[in-house]
Amino acid sequence: MTFARDTELSLLAAVSLVNSAEPPGTLTSRAALEEFWTRSGYIGRHDRDEDELADGRALRPRLRELLTAERDSAVVIVNDLERADATPKLVRHDDLDWHLHVVDPERPLTERIAAESAMAMIDVIRTDEMSRLGVCSQDDCQGIVLDLSRNRSKIFCGTSCSNRAAVAAYRARKR
Ligand SMILES: [Zn+2]
Ligand SMILES: [Zn+2]
Repeated sequence: MTFARDTELSLLAAVSLVNSAEPPGTLTSRAALEEFWTRSGYIGRHDRDEDELADGRALRPRLRELLTAERDSAVVIVNDLERADATPKLVRHDDLDWHLHVVDPERPLTERIAAESAMAMIDVIRTDEMSRLGVCSQDDCQGIVLDLSRNRSKIFCGTSCSNRAAVAAYRARKR
């Protein structure tokens, strides 16, 4: 394990949210938000309304900035993120052992995602593991890559990009 489990889950959720902005853009409906919610592992307040969807979409550029920043810039962003209501608590739920929730579960979902992402980045920064985050190696893709693998071998944001690269490599060999 590269980071604590809760850090990894927060990072995975943050990356998935940011990458939903990649063309053609997948966070376009409340159903898509529901799908993100199911995958993300977030619990607590979930309004399922248009405001929550709009807030989720609006958070993406800021999160992207944080996840792709140089280490020292990331520190500034993390320290700037409003966490006035931070009330860190260890909780245990579902099949997750003791882990940290930074803000009250009744705070709006997007606010919690921002806070939990910042908290996760604190781990990344202080362990000096910024190289775990990068941008997809596929030419026309700006998706974020989160590499939690032991051998740091991940270069594509997801299976569709790695499949496209494999097809391109195959065609190149045939020529
Ligand atoms: Zn939790
Ligand atoms: Zn990609």
